[in-house]
Amino acid sequence: MDRKKAIIIGSGIGGLSLGIRLQSLGFDTTIFEKLDAPGGRAYVRREAGFVFDMGPTVITVPHFIEELFSLDRDCADLGSPDFSPELLDINSRITTGVSGGPNTSKYVKIVPILPFYRIYFDDGTYFDYDGDPESTRRQIEAIEPEDLAGYDRFHDAAKAIFERGFVELGYTYFGNVMSMLKIAPDLVKLDAVRPLFSFVKSYFKSPKLQQVFSFEPLLVGGNPMNVPAIYAMIHFVEKTWGIHFAMGGTGELVKGFIKKYEELGGTIRYDSEVTSIEVEGKRFGKKVAKGITLADGSSYKADVIVSNGDYANTYMKLIEPKYRLINQDLRVKTMKQSMSIVVIYFGFKSNGLEDLDLRHHNIILGPRYEELLDEIFEQKVLSPDFSQYLHVPSLTDPSMAPPGHHAAYTLIPVPNNASDIDWSVEGDKLVDKVLDFLDDRNYIPGLRDRLVHKSFVTPDYFEGTLNSYLGNGFGVEPVLVQSAFFRPHNRSEDIENFYLVGANSQPGGGTPAVMMCAKMTAREIAKNYGVAESIVNGVAKPLVTA
Ligand SMILES: Cc1cc2nc3c(=O)[nH]c(=O)nc-3n(C[C@H](O)[C@H](O)[C@H](O)COP(=O)(O)OP(=O)(O)OC[C@H]3O[C@@H](n4cnc5c(N)ncnc54)[C@H](O)[C@@H]3O)c2cc1C
Repeated sequence: MDRKKAIIIGSGIGGLSLGIRLQSLGFDTTIFEKLDAPGGRAYVRREAGFVFDMGPTVITVPHFIEELFSLDRDCADLGSPDFSPELLDINSRITTGVSGGPNTSKYVKIVPILPFYRIYFDDGTYFDYDGDPESTRRQIEAIEPEDLAGYDRFHDAAKAIFERGFVELGYTYFGNVMSMLKIAPDLVKLDAVRPLFSFVKSYFKSPKLQQVFSFEPLLVGGNPMNVPAIYAMIHFVEKTWGIHFAMGGTGELVKGFIKKYEELGGTIRYDSEVTSIEVEGKRFGKKVAKGITLADGSSYKADVIVSNGDYANTYMKLIEPKYRLINQDLRVKTMKQSMSIVVIYFGFKSNGLEDLDLRHHNIILGPRYEELLDEIFEQKVLSPDFSQYLHVPSLTDPSMAPPGHHAAYTLIPVPNNASDIDWSVEGDKLVDKVLDFLDDRNYIPGLRDRLVHKSFVTPDYFEGTLNSYLGNGFGVEPVLVQSAFFRPHNRSEDIENFYLVGANSQPGGGTPAVMMCAKMTAREIAKNYGVAESIVNGVAKPLVTA
């Protein structure tokens, strides 16, 4: 039996999800990963007895995960309904205490987290965002009673955007401009193309509530001032399916994906940096991807090559310019890259009194919002103040830290490396400032004395270790002119048999989006290899050439 060969460059969540899907479509897939372990941004650090997920911690849309764990070898399940009525039943959310479905639980235990986030304002007050309409309304009323009516209108507008933008169009691949033009009038009608912050401001007059209902795109690298209001759907995605945590950390989910992928016959090779993608053809004629070369000089051929690596670096560093008519350096360089981040991984003693007034996920907003975002995204300067996302997984799963300790990470948005900040100097200073802040403001009282371990990464990690252009933290920035058709294409416009998967391509960043991306890229590959029928008719059909 002659199976088509596929190569995936990178083992991020997008690369692994696609690996599982290609195996289920009947390909023989090999993933080549630069690092010594899988996950990409979801790599795990184990230091001084603590387990630190380096990246994603907020798990949403658990049925995307269930879909992947349900796939079988040679059973191309690309045609199943993306959102069945049961999946949209908001009342079925978080009832059992375990989320994810029967196939997921064979690989990893996923549990719901409440509240979704505790959002601290600079004056020390907070908003517990939990998706429960009554508790949301109560807290809005306490902050600004007049905004209650605004919330009702915001809720309805966000719901309409969610239904059209996510449920109906979420899996639409915008391969040509017509596909984009077709839906543009709808998005305009839904007011989904104006900047999110301006959209939110039209419903809430309290600056605190404007922040509560606009910060979420920051978790996927978007500036609330610039991302289109289509991102208001995140509010509804979370409300509909909740926020979850993989016990043992997101690394356990990655481990589960690896297990599934290998059970389906996939191969993964670590410490294998790809240094070039081999293309054959003519500059103005047909060009076909044929294989890859690794840093050690070895090369491998395949029928399909997919990059899960950074878009800009993939095109600029791995493919010769003569094979790139559309994705020329000029285009690639002029695309806006997302912000970057400093992430501090730290462990501290529990003082026995459990005096932490923190929750699993905490957003700690600084004194300025609009100005701070402008300095990070536009001016690209290091600000005197900061906002942060503080994650304390040991509150849910004590096994993340040695007995008597907590494991935490805090993430601070900073400019990407288009700035001239010298992180070898500024990194330590910022880390000390942030940890002192957590102690002085009593988020973690006595942290200076209780701290037993710390390490951190800066934009230089994203640039040097993860091969991300300008050290971007989240790929190409999600702005309107870099969305849908205008985002890097999952199926290369330049080169046959060459595809992208992950945060840089459609639909965008964040773990649920990269899982959706994997399905979209798998569909494009399936079409190219003659299993398109199974997608149209929803009939499972294996891709095996005899
Ligand atoms: C700190 C942080 C926190 C986040 N929190 C959340 C969250 O809570 N919830 C959420 O949904 N999303 C979150 N995100 C976003 C989410 O993590 C990403 O969108 C997603 O994980 C990206 O996955 P990906 O498949 O695009 O690939 P990546 O994770 O970027 O992986 C790409 C892989 O390709 C490899 N690679 C690159 N170049 C080469 C090469 N030449 N040869 C071989 N291998 C190569 C890299 O080593 C890497 O392993 C967070 C991101 C960060 C950084």
